[in-house]
Amino acid sequence: MRLLGWLGLLFGLTASLIVPATALDREAFTIARYDLEARLEPEQQRLGARGKITLRNDSGQSQRVVALQISSSLNWRSIRVDGKPVQYVSQPYMSDIDHTGALSEAIVTLPAEIKPKDSVEVEIGYEGVIPLDGTRLTRIGVPEEIAKHSSWDQISPSFTAVRGAGYVAWYPITTESADFSEGNSLFEVVDRWKKREQDASMKLSLSTEPGTHDRNLLLLCNGIGSNVDTREGSTHDHYARCGYERFGLATPTFAMANYHDQSKPPFYLFSFPGHEAGGATYSNALEPATKFVSEWFGPPSAPVAIVDFADPNSAPFESGTLLMASMAAQDSKLAGINVVHELVHSALPSSKPWVYEGLAHFAEAMYREQQGGRQAALDLLGLHRAAFLDSEKEVSAALQKNGKPKVVEQKIVEQKVIGQPLAGTFDETYYRSKAAYVWWMLRDMIGDDAMKQAIRKYRAEHNNNKDNDRDPKYVEQLIEAAAKRDLSWFFDDWVYQDRGLPDFHVQSVHPWKTENGVQIVTVTLENLGNAGAEVPFTIICEGGEITKRIEVRAKGTATTRVELPGTASKIVVNDGSVPESDLTNNVFRVPAL
Ligand SMILES: [Zn+2]
Repeated sequence: MRLLGWLGLLFGLTASLIVPATALDREAFTIARYDLEARLEPEQQRLGARGKITLRNDSGQSQRVVALQISSSLNWRSIRVDGKPVQYVSQPYMSDIDHTGALSEAIVTLPAEIKPKDSVEVEIGYEGVIPLDGTRLTRIGVPEEIAKHSSWDQISPSFTAVRGAGYVAWYPITTESADFSEGNSLFEVVDRWKKREQDASMKLSLSTEPGTHDRNLLLLCNGIGSNVDTREGSTHDHYARCGYERFGLATPTFAMANYHDQSKPPFYLFSFPGHEAGGATYSNALEPATKFVSEWFGPPSAPVAIVDFADPNSAPFESGTLLMASMAAQDSKLAGINVVHELVHSALPSSKPWVYEGLAHFAEAMYREQQGGRQAALDLLGLHRAAFLDSEKEVSAALQKNGKPKVVEQKIVEQKVIGQPLAGTFDETYYRSKAAYVWWMLRDMIGDDAMKQAIRKYRAEHNNNKDNDRDPKYVEQLIEAAAKRDLSWFFDDWVYQDRGLPDFHVQSVHPWKTENGVQIVTVTLENLGNAGAEVPFTIICEGGEITKRIEVRAKGTATTRVELPGTASKIVVNDGSVPESDLTNNVFRVPAL
């Protein structure tokens, strides 16, 4: 009886703290600044951290309560404001934003209400372990063997690599619950967090005691200005310091292992012993890749790092200027495009995800083209198409249903957010995959010289600290100036709005002969989609084939005449360079005259 009474009292007390009079708004506060010191103990798989965070109230109401969240395998040790401990209740909070599928949430009652836009500095301490954990995947049915290849984050004596928000909450976050089994819930919560945190900064200092057997132990993080100490043979602290002036797209990540160092600064390359040959494939790719990137994007100058995995089946991961990819195999094609990608980041910083990542993926395709021809490049781009095709088909279907081509910034159809304007997206499938196509289409339309000119100008102005990219039409203006051509319709359909994808087909073909016997066809193409594009089409005829390009606006048609060496037999629209919602209606057989 007595025990039950106590439990009831405790429960009542806890519940009243957890659910204050108004519902807890977990996303009211943004963490504007982190200043963290973390200590790693790989033998125990432990991480202990302390430091300060600055919380800013980004909601419209004054707030007294904040929910601070870390991975469920970590525990809160202390939370203080102005040097004094504050009242908090720690509770598990189910969320797939962490690899363990749950968070340790501290519901903190602040000493005073924080008004909208005001900030408060909070001193924090937390510790615990970060072992390999695929729970959020295995509980939706992913076999453990597969789960561990994508959920590879861990602290361990032989291999340590831990990614931040979206993978492991090894630093505090403030988010609503995310659920993997609910369609896009996880990605929406993570994208929202990244968007809220894009201007946040972090100062991070990591240290570990290597022990006598780990003389080559290398500790690194992915921020700018990382400082890696690898003096041999001593048992002094090894440390890495990273500063993120502005997160942008970066996910703070650290890694530690006995790496073999094949770096050529500013290009850092760390492979596992036994993977030297694979590492050499990357080394060898550096020179030709640097030449190629310099020509298009300017000379790479900011440091980039490519870091090996212990498990060769680990899924690659990229954040900012860090790429983690297995070097177990010797794949020179893959090494080439990976190196190109990172060098583009080194050469061309940008605060716009679709520019920063889009250009890097576009460069990969151009590099494949240089080595294996246009089809090789289109094959590489083709691997990206599936990533955004389904989502874009939903957009097209919604536009069809509503019957109005005007799209507001974000479409909410039946309470479901669908579609993403490329210009402001934090969704990877858009700023990587769709953006790669958009840059490719632009280059097909305006040619190499104009494209290079626009990119050079972008870089020069960025390096002069003119962050013109804040102007939403900046990229369009640069490209139009270089190409001397109005491309506002293209930017409207592909960058500022999400209008789904085009869908081309041959509407009609009229073969005829001039008085002099020259064979001509008049071809009319129709675009059934809501996004316009300039699309190539190939006429196959006696004696060869002819490829032309034609601009077909959304829901429009375009007609052109083509002179042929012989009778046309077939017309194929789109070589794959324009992403389309339906590719089954692209071949047209020309009836005999
Ligand atoms: Zn990248």
